[in-house]
Order: sequence, then structure tokens, then C-alpha cells
Amino acid sequence: MTEGGYNGSMTDVPMIQLNNGRPIPQLGFGVFLVPPEDTAAAVSEALRIGYRHIDTAQMYGNEKEVGQAIAESGLHRDDVYITSKLNNAYHLPDDARRAFDETLAALGIEAIDLFLIHWPLPTRYGGDFISTWKTLEEFYRDGRARSIGVSNFHANHLNRLFAETDIVPAVNQIEVHPYLVQDDLRGFCADHQIAVEAWSPLGRGAVLDNPTIRSIAATVGKTSAQVILRWHVERGDIVFPKSIRPERMAENFDIFDFTLSVDDLAAISALDRGERVGPDPETFDRV
Ligand code: NAD
Repeated sequence: MTEGGYNGSMTDVPMIQLNNGRPIPQLGFGVFLVPPEDTAAAVSEALRIGYRHIDTAQMYGNEKEVGQAIAESGLHRDDVYITSKLNNAYHLPDDARRAFDETLAALGIEAIDLFLIHWPLPTRYGGDFISTWKTLEEFYRDGRARSIGVSNFHANHLNRLFAETDIVPAVNQIEVHPYLVQDDLRGFCADHQIAVEAWSPLGRGAVLDNPTIRSIAATVGKTSAQVILRWHVERGDIVFPKSIRPERMAENFDIFDFTLSVDDLAAISALDRGERVGPDPETFDRV
């Protein structure tokens, strides 16, 4: 039941090798804030364009529709990489076990490629994300999660996992874009063989009109979104931009026929303002 796994055979997108040896496509499609009624059509279109990596979460409320689109695509299960994340309300081990069963059922799959703790919630559950992580380790050991990881974890949260648990997360999914370049945390993750997934890679659109980005885009003959996504990819991070407009989905996928110069990469990184579009993981506590 748990043999196999994502095989990377159906895509030209570069692969990142995780610390357990498994490949993940560096570019995927994210479905945060995609209403359930629009999700199956959006994921179908993404698969048609060539995306083979879908990033969802229990809290997005659209796992069922993601699973439906993948099932109807005619693709083999192991040709599509699927990530989901634990609902903040279900950090207690028994809740996490039940929620994980529900994720697999909603997606209609026997094993998921990657399952994450969505937020560390250090001010909830008595600060105990350790027992939550140990529960994800169960899912990994029984083969129903082919890789496990975390999201929105800072170095202090990761250091606790290193000290108190067995498995180093395969990924840390964190907010990264040109206004929040996160080089300290990215470096910390690299030092510990944790791949970085950059969420809100376009800063939810906020970075698109930046004059530096627009000028580089004009020079290389690409759009601002393509330049920003290319910057992420050349830095080695995994990205899954979100749009439900087919032309933008295609545009965001078309980033492998050009490169950015060292100077362009540096100019984009220099836009850092330490500015978040999402919550601060140290204080975020919404369940
Ligand atoms: P994003 O940076 O991908 O921006 C999305 C917005 O940018 C869209 O709503 C659209 O308005 C605009 N856009 C997209 N492509 C465009 C294009 N080519 N041209 C012009 N505008 C364009 O932000 P996001 O959706 O917040 O993040 C992407 C994914 O990251 C999510 O779907 C989700 O999978 C993940 N995510 C994870 C977390 C987490 O806590 N782990 C939090 C937020 C997002």
C-alpha cells in the first residue's frame, strides 16, 4: 500500500531532493483562499498546464476538490506530488491522528507525499508542538506520509524538535518574497538539510509593481511575477504561487527558459524590508 511515491517522470520542472532522498518538484500550485467550488476546476487547469505539485491544507477546506481533480485528470497517483497540513485545532495527538485519516480520505489517497504542522502555535497547547511532531513521525513510520515537515517554524522551534524528537523535518514552509527574504532562517534550514518552501512567493501580489522588479522584467522580457518566481527558484527554494486565472497560472509556470544575472538576483534580494503579508509565527495563535 505504501510503496512507490512521487516519481518525477511527468514534468520538466526541476526537482529538489529532500533529506530522506525523495524528490519534490520545485514549482507547484497553491490553493490557499481558492473557494471549494472553484478548486477542482483550478487544479484541473493547473494539471493541464503541467503543474505536478499541489499545496493544500486542512484549513483551506478544499482537500476533497483537490483529490477530485487529480482523480479525474487520468494521471497516475505517483505523477502528482500532494502536500497538506494539520489544522491548528488538532495539535493534540488523538486529534491529529483523526484529522490525518480525514485528509487521506478527503484526498482519496492511501499515502500523502508531504504532511506538515501548519503553525507551531508556541502560545497554545502549553507550547507543546513536540507531541504533535511525534504524531507526524508515526504517520511517516507507517508509510502513510512519505515525507513530513513543518511550516512557519523559527530556529528556536526547530532547535526544540532537534533536541526532543527523532526525525528532522524534510521541509520548512515559510513566508518568503522580495520584501521578506528570510536569509537567516533559510541559512539555518540549509545547515540542517531542511528544504525551504516559500509561501506567498509573490507577496500576495504586493511586490509585482516594485520599480526594480519591473525594470528587470523589461530587460529580460518576462513579467514581474515570472522574475520573482525565477529569483526564488535560483535561490533554491520551492514555490507554489496561487492564481485561479488560467493565463496567470500558465505565466507562473513559464519560468524555465531564462535566467537572472548575479546583479539582478542581488538587486531583488536588496528589496528586503522585513515586511510580512501574513502573521508572525511567534504570536500567531488562531485555531
Ligand atoms: P502568492 O504570493 O502566490 O500571491 C497570490 C496572489 O498574487 C493571487 O491572488 C493573485 O492576485 C496574484 N497573482 C498570482 N499570479 C499572478 C501573476 N502572474 N500576475 C499578477 N498577479 C498574480 O500568495 P499566496 O496565495 O498567499 O501563497 C501561495 C501559496 O502558498 C498558497 O496558495 C498556499 O498554498 C501557500 N501558503 C502557505 C501558508 C502557510 O502558512 N504555510 C500561508 C499562505 C500561503
